[in-house]
This record gives sequence, C-alpha cells and structure tokens, in this order.
Amino acid sequence: MYRCEYFAIHELVPPKVFQEWGEKAWELLDERLLITLDRLRRRYGPMTVNNYYWGKEREWSGLRTKDSPFYSRYSQHTFGRAADCLFAERAAEEVRQDILSHSTDPDFEMIGSVELNVSWLHFDVRNCHRIKTYQP
Ligand SMILES: [Zn+2]
Repeated sequence: MYRCEYFAIHELVPPKVFQEWGEKAWELLDERLLITLDRLRRRYGPMTVNNYYWGKEREWSGLRTKDSPFYSRYSQHTFGRAADCLFAERAAEEVRQDILSHSTDPDFEMIGSVELNVSWLHFDVRNCHRIKTYQP
C-alpha cells in the first residue's frame, strides 16, 4: 500500500469522504496517481491539490463524488486517477510543457494524460496511448 510522503489524505479527497473514511480513503486512490504526485512535488516544489482543511476553497481537485458540481460519470477524477495541481514556485503551463517535452522521463512514466489550456495542471493515470492531451 502506498501513502504519499508529501500529501495528507484530506488533500486528495473531498471533506465528506475524509469524514467518513479517514485514512482508509487512501484505498480509493490509484497508487500510480499517488506515486506521481510525490514525484511532481520533489521535482517542482510545494503544490496544492485540495486545501479545504486549512479553510480554503479547493475541495474537488482530487477524488470527485456525485456531490461535486464538477462531477462527471467518466471523469478520471471519479475513479481516483486524476489530480488538479497548483504549484507555489512554478506556473502550471511551465510544468505542463516540461512534462510533455520530457515524456520519457521516469518521473512521468505513469502519467496517461494532461489537460491543455487550463490554469492548473490536470494529470491522470488513465490507460491510453501516452502522453495524451485534451482540451477542457
Ligand atoms: Zn482535472
């Protein structure tokens, strides 16, 4: 079982899941997502996924359930395979271009897809011809 070195579980699941599942909620997330989150954190420095735990607004940037206004039945977020990330010291576009131009780097070996033209980094670990890109 993999638990992130740099992230607490509340940073990766919404409040209700954290309340109901606590630490067991690690089981709801794909380990490839978790391993890659730690790799991105090591490479790019401090990052935010959810931050509601500290009284801020982001609560749907990791796992999404039907309660989410952003819920979509087949979103990778629904399956615990996606995260939307903000970086303290890097622009999302800079990170996205680094990933796409070094797609064979071991840090990125589990990334299936990244979303283009958004102000955050969406990556997921879907099963696809990688690294796939798509528009919002
Ligand atoms: Zn996303």
